[in-house]
Amino acid sequence: MLNQLLLPASRKFRHSFNCLLILLLPHLLSADVIQHNGITYRNLSEVSTKLRAETRQLNEGNTWELSNKRNKLTFRSGSRAIHLNDTPVYLGYPIIKSKKSLYIPELDWRFTLSPILHASKRTRQIKRIVLDPGHGGKDPGAINESAKLYEKDLTLAVCKKLKPILKKQGFEVFLTRSNDKYLTLEERTQYARSKRADLFISIHFNASTNTNAEGIETFAYTLLSQPSTSRNIADQNDRRFHPANRYDSQNTRLAYFIHKSLARSFDTPNRGIKRARFTVLETLACPGALLELGFLSHPESAAKLSKNKEILKLVDAIVEGIQTYSKETRI
Ligand SMILES: [Zn+2]
Repeated sequence: MLNQLLLPASRKFRHSFNCLLILLLPHLLSADVIQHNGITYRNLSEVSTKLRAETRQLNEGNTWELSNKRNKLTFRSGSRAIHLNDTPVYLGYPIIKSKKSLYIPELDWRFTLSPILHASKRTRQIKRIVLDPGHGGKDPGAINESAKLYEKDLTLAVCKKLKPILKKQGFEVFLTRSNDKYLTLEERTQYARSKRADLFISIHFNASTNTNAEGIETFAYTLLSQPSTSRNIADQNDRRFHPANRYDSQNTRLAYFIHKSLARSFDTPNRGIKRARFTVLETLACPGALLELGFLSHPESAAKLSKNKEILKLVDAIVEGIQTYSKETRI
């Protein structure tokens, strides 16, 4: 103590600076990027700074809410679903907690969150859209016998109504099938490539043995080297580059804008944006998404989907989603 008091002013300053450094060291060392089980994660504090967001920590620091003028994001330690303005968005791996900070998989920051939150400047203009009515012919898809609903008919009805509306908006629109015809998944993708599509949208309806299951969900092709939403661990196929991975960022944006529009239009559970390596998306030469527009196995949903009014409402929401995506991607 005596020594310190006798120190010249410059040395005193250096001493207090050193003390300050020691105090701050743990903070300075809390890495922005860490490795966990061979996966790179980014500190959400850094994400928050990039988004100019305010961070609120809840639930003893296990839940973080980041909010700025435009968006509110909720991250929960151990959860693979983050909430972006009330829409669940599924990540490749769960959010993890380390030294009082939450971390997001780096790939999900780069190819899931960033593309949604920041428009890309290097995207082509959307002119040609290929719509794919799921199933057909000998493949009826989901069936609700009592409501006499066949998925293959509903998907075709949606696409047939979408076409003239999108054409009016100035898009060139093609359907992979315009009657009750069977097509393989590869034939659908091949058709999109032959039409030099800028956008591919596959339309489907869900079914489950659990008749309480309801809601809308949207799929984007799984990011390179991550497992799909239905699995927890990446396998060899996940680590292989597939043509659809060229559009990882745009696939996410397309799925998000269409899903957001659908979720806003329907008072039904928002099942979120998920990932799957669907064959029909895998070899596309353009961004694509697969929409699951409701459960035929859910009695109330089936009753609604039997009505033309409900189909038109779905169509309007999809058109709005495509418009938003296409406007934002126009250079
Ligand atoms: Zn289907």
